[in-house]
Amino acid sequence: MPHIHTLAARAGSTPDPATGALAPPLQLATTFEHTADVQLPHGFLYQRYGNPTQQETERVLAALDGAARALLYPTGMAAGATALQALPAGSHVLLCDDSYFSFRVIARDWFPRWGLECTIVDFTDLDAVRAALRPDTRLLWAETPSNPLLKVSDIAALADIAHAGGARLLVDGTFAPPTLQQPLALGADVVMHSATKYLGGHGDVMGGVLSFAEDGEHAAACQGLRVLGGATASPFAAWMILRGVRSLPARMDWHCRNAGQVAQFLQAHARVDKVHYPGLASHPQHAVAARQMSGFGGMLSFEVAGGREAALAVAARLRLFTNATSLGSTESLVEHRASIEGPLSTTPQGLLRLSVGLEYGDDLVADLEQALAG
Ligand SMILES: *Cc1c(COP(=O)(O)O)cnc(C)c1O
Repeated sequence: MPHIHTLAARAGSTPDPATGALAPPLQLATTFEHTADVQLPHGFLYQRYGNPTQQETERVLAALDGAARALLYPTGMAAGATALQALPAGSHVLLCDDSYFSFRVIARDWFPRWGLECTIVDFTDLDAVRAALRPDTRLLWAETPSNPLLKVSDIAALADIAHAGGARLLVDGTFAPPTLQQPLALGADVVMHSATKYLGGHGDVMGGVLSFAEDGEHAAACQGLRVLGGATASPFAAWMILRGVRSLPARMDWHCRNAGQVAQFLQAHARVDKVHYPGLASHPQHAVAARQMSGFGGMLSFEVAGGREAALAVAARLRLFTNATSLGSTESLVEHRASIEGPLSTTPQGLLRLSVGLEYGDDLVADLEQALAG
């Protein structure tokens, strides 16, 4: 099996037999010729059911995640919501307490309509996870590292707990794409990515991925819901995501390197109360992170001494870090998460989240230095 860096650069790539072109063709057709009795000579019927560009991207994503099957969606939320909607009615879900905010809103506002129940648990406390399991628990929804507190949960231990209870483990791996973390190899059943972030990598395409350890009933349900619910990624988005994935290992190396440098700087700064970055020895789950990640990622958050007003002032003084939501792109971003999450937010008021980009590390540190000095 080639190294994952080789898979990212090359998996599934063969010159186009029609033209010899090395870059994959972007196939925009909505419909495909079939026989009079609807046999499909090339396996394609209608773009929403599946299309060649989407299929090529899915094969590469499956190879990177070590998955039996990967499904691409127009956004990360579409992927995640589909994985939940595909559960049998009456299912109970354990949701980690620091999951991406919108999934907590889905659980609160939409689970009742979908016939699902939810318990929110701190997944870094394995005893609490065991205690929250019920006979009808079908899914444990982990996110590691989590947004925005960068909590790390033990994927292998959670998989064991889930399986012993007859449930599956899904990991939202958006902060740690496949070159940094392999949830399926650690025992998870599904890994979800917002491809809008590191997989696309350039802040110019949206997408979501579900990669399945087994091409079984849950994968089939998620595919069936995609076809009927219409959440098929556009061929152009699929093409852009594949283009991004080709340089994922090189980009992630630099994201990790820059974030490590920024985390060290912030940790030593007198006006910073706390830095949340799994690569720091002081991080409460650093040992778990070191075991299950091959790099600590480009995301971190920190708490400015003085709380909300001080944090907002620092964010406003930053020049290289742009105040914008999202993450995983080439440019560095800063965001006051409590402001964007609104009244339901449990994020500390002094917390700023950084998506550390691909600028030169010393320049990023200099920007933070001037913003914290002001
Ligand atoms: C952005 C994000 C999502 C949602 O993805 P979209 O592509 O914005 O729909 C889910 N989980 C995490 C951790 C994210 O950062």
